[in-house]
Amino acid sequence: MSALSHTKSYYAASANDTRIRPALESEVQADVCIVGAGYTGLSTALHLSEQGFKVVVLEANRIGFGASGRNGGQIVHSYSRDIDFIERHYGQATGKAMGAMAFEGGKIIRRLVRDYDIQCDLKDGGIFAACNNKQFAELKGKKALWEANGHRELELLSAEETRGYIGTSRYTGALLDKSGGHFHPLNLVLGEARAVESLGGVIYEGSGAVKIEEGSQVRVHTQKGCVTASFVVVAGNAYLGDLVPKLQSKAMPCGTQVVTTEPLSEALQQELLPHGQCVEDCNYLLDYFRLSGDGRLIYGGGVTYGAREPDKIESLIVPKMLKTFPQMKNVKVDFAWTGNFLLTLMRLPQFGRVGAHSNIYYAQGYSGHGVTCSHLAGKVLSDAIQGQAERYDVMASLPQYPFVGGRMMRVPYTALGAFYYTLRDRLGI
Ligand SMILES: Cc1cc2nc3c(=O)[nH]c(=O)nc-3n(C[C@H](O)[C@H](O)[C@H](O)COP(=O)(O)OP(=O)(O)OC[C@H]3O[C@@H](n4cnc5c(N)ncnc54)[C@H](O)[C@@H]3O)c2cc1C
Repeated sequence: MSALSHTKSYYAASANDTRIRPALESEVQADVCIVGAGYTGLSTALHLSEQGFKVVVLEANRIGFGASGRNGGQIVHSYSRDIDFIERHYGQATGKAMGAMAFEGGKIIRRLVRDYDIQCDLKDGGIFAACNNKQFAELKGKKALWEANGHRELELLSAEETRGYIGTSRYTGALLDKSGGHFHPLNLVLGEARAVESLGGVIYEGSGAVKIEEGSQVRVHTQKGCVTASFVVVAGNAYLGDLVPKLQSKAMPCGTQVVTTEPLSEALQQELLPHGQCVEDCNYLLDYFRLSGDGRLIYGGGVTYGAREPDKIESLIVPKMLKTFPQMKNVKVDFAWTGNFLLTLMRLPQFGRVGAHSNIYYAQGYSGHGVTCSHLAGKVLSDAIQGQAERYDVMASLPQYPFVGGRMMRVPYTALGAFYYTLRDRLGI
């Protein structure tokens, strides 16, 4: 058996492509070398390949091994901090430019699924559910904010209307985003990989970059090979480790856990989510859930700071699931796993360049909200490499601070902050 493997998730068990690509064992040349085969890396690779660039992607483990192959599969627009926060802190022009990009990631995903016929159970519709009146008031604000930025497919739902979409009495109201949606995340990333290959791109699995040698031609070394390229894109996000120390210092990997039940009866599916949308609640440490293509409930939540792997995922997540859906008491859990996303201090994405030659790009730190932003990042980075850098410049202008407390104390300090916000959610203040 190969040493390379996905985490034991429902997605890995239902992946529609199990081929393993060979490792890099020679010296190769490319226009662009991409480190990491998640959405950021493959969206960049795909946008560049479509423009005729010769692209080589290095993946340390399997395609989609990171967050992209194990996430909640929810298309959530905008950023972890919304457009109003960006405008308040970084000015009107930055807010406007970020607002203009905030709904593009979902469109990119839908275009790729359509153009490359990617089979990933894509379904329209996402719901933000309010756990108290304060959160419902904030959802009204979100609707106004998003509409002001051109996104109009939104509908507020009263508590009673929400019960017609989600079979629980837990929520005081909700916001339905008709252009949100959900999909099988690993099958999306595998489909993107095949699309890159169909355009002549090459992906090496089991080929972690171990050293990047700067220069006008960058050399990216793996254990057994080397790629020489005019540009490099570092897209390792929470799984990058210390390959680029500058990136490691300004973000923190965090874990979040997911369980997947056995397939539910038609009647139970109808009772939980009769219209089939995905849901995330509005708590600081949020719960997210949806039905899979084959009728299981996929339920995620919780955060472990510093990417610690919790021992008993089921005992963390099942009580959350039962709080929302007590009717799931006797349903069996078939899969439980954890995955890492990358948190930044301001909860805003980090785009930039490293090295003296300005030809090593990175994008990371979507702070748990990365399905759409990673796809947008691929387009923005691809444009920048082709010399159209206006949107990249806006992204790169957002500040990138290190975490308070450095590598030793950032975990307890951040956990303390999260405790404070969780308490506020519980008290509804
Ligand atoms: C459990 C979970 C649930 C989530 N749910 C949602 C959701 O529902 N909606 C949403 O918007 N966001 C969600 N997210 C966040 C979202 O999944 C991520 O933001 C997004 O997938 C990040 O994509 P990426 O390509 O930047 O990183 P990743 O997908 O993590 O990919 C990085 C890749 O780089 C590789 N790599 C690292 N170092 C090297 C190296 N040195 N050489 C070669 N390869 C390397 C890794 O092996 C990995 O495959 C969730 C995250 C998790 C963990």
